[in-house]
Amino acid sequence: MATDSTHPETLVLHAGYRSDEATNAVAVPIYQTTSYQFRDTEQAANLFALKELGNIYTRIMNPTCDALEQRVAALEGGVAALAVSSGQTASTFAVLNLCQAGDNFVTSTDLYGGTWNLFANTFKQMGIEARFVDPSDPEAFRRATDEKTRCYYAETLPNPKLHVFPIAEVAAIGRALGVPLIVDNTAAPVLCRPLALGAAVVVYSATKYIGGHGTSIGGIVVDGGNFDWEAHGARFPTLTNPDPSYHGAVWTEAVKPLGPIAYILRMRVILLRDIGAALSPFNAFLLIQGLETLPLRMRAHCENALKVVDFLKSHPQVTTVIHPSVQTGELARRRDGALAHGQGALVGFELKGGLEAGRAFIDALKMLYHVANIGDARSLAIHPASTTHSQLSAEDQLATGVSQGYVRLSIGIEHADDIIGDLKQALESL
Ligand SMILES: *Cc1c(COP(=O)(O)O)cnc(C)c1O
Repeated sequence: MATDSTHPETLVLHAGYRSDEATNAVAVPIYQTTSYQFRDTEQAANLFALKELGNIYTRIMNPTCDALEQRVAALEGGVAALAVSSGQTASTFAVLNLCQAGDNFVTSTDLYGGTWNLFANTFKQMGIEARFVDPSDPEAFRRATDEKTRCYYAETLPNPKLHVFPIAEVAAIGRALGVPLIVDNTAAPVLCRPLALGAAVVVYSATKYIGGHGTSIGGIVVDGGNFDWEAHGARFPTLTNPDPSYHGAVWTEAVKPLGPIAYILRMRVILLRDIGAALSPFNAFLLIQGLETLPLRMRAHCENALKVVDFLKSHPQVTTVIHPSVQTGELARRRDGALAHGQGALVGFELKGGLEAGRAFIDALKMLYHVANIGDARSLAIHPASTTHSQLSAEDQLATGVSQGYVRLSIGIEHADDIIGDLKQALESL
């Protein structure tokens, strides 16, 4: 570890990598190689037997990916991480690492659309049951749990409702029952630290704020190292039973000399080995460039979002503004417990004029990009009712929090006056 700091601003620049051993390069080099030469047959045998950890083949590990993994693990306060090809791979692997056919997991209903489809359809076809529960009632997780429940799953700050998930409450229920909580923290890196609130695993779409520049698709899973798999061994056969694809290794035993990394080691040497959804070294490099300024950008994103919220609240065409900063009561309590370092840069609002006003507003924007993405340094906008949510009935759209006149903004780091100026001229054109 090149730094013993606990400050995010320092960790993203110094954790996990100091300089290249071969060249002394300060920037993390792009190790654009598929394979690594073994020193001798003894080392090769040790690497394959996991007696020694080291590079074999880039599908399973790569030094550029390793620097990204170590930095994100340090940022989250986890023990280790695994970089993968996308956020979708990260959520797939996070669940598949614990669930087999016949098992179930309990998930919040407030999810990214891609995650919803994965859980409701693809996992179902694989024999894994996702039990959807309303996150406004943490006890619903307890009620949906049985002896085949392998994990809980939720997003920190799900859009479009932007109701902060009760991480601490659900993590505590899970820990009492021996069930780990997996949190997708894509919308709130640096702002929220799910592991410190009791979560066991954090997943990211690094495509969004971590990359920050809209250049690369990638995902990361962070192992908190804070969950005792052996204490609830019967619940976790993938980690505590002999693994037939690795000469009978029991992962919780095999990692004893290495630290509490059974979960993430198994994900690397089994799921990444077999399924192959590896992150390319080049994309790892680009994501590292983003990561190095992530805390600085999150601060600017959040400051701008608060200014946009203030502007929208007083505009006559806007009926409702959706952002954690305007929430009250129980929602505000949860927000203050989880979002210690900023309230995020996703902002929703509803237009008086409904569907037609929503479309006209998007078409009138000049600077904001009209894209189905979040977390870019540039400000982005979309009208969900006519795009991302258009396959749902108006009733189902409302259940997910999307009204006909709802517009979603992902506020960037341009000057706030220019973002507000563009929103203002588009609203005035209605
Ligand atoms: C985008 C996104 C994903 C999926 O990530 P990809 O990198 O696009 O595969 C998962 N969860 C959330 C919250 C997202 O915003």
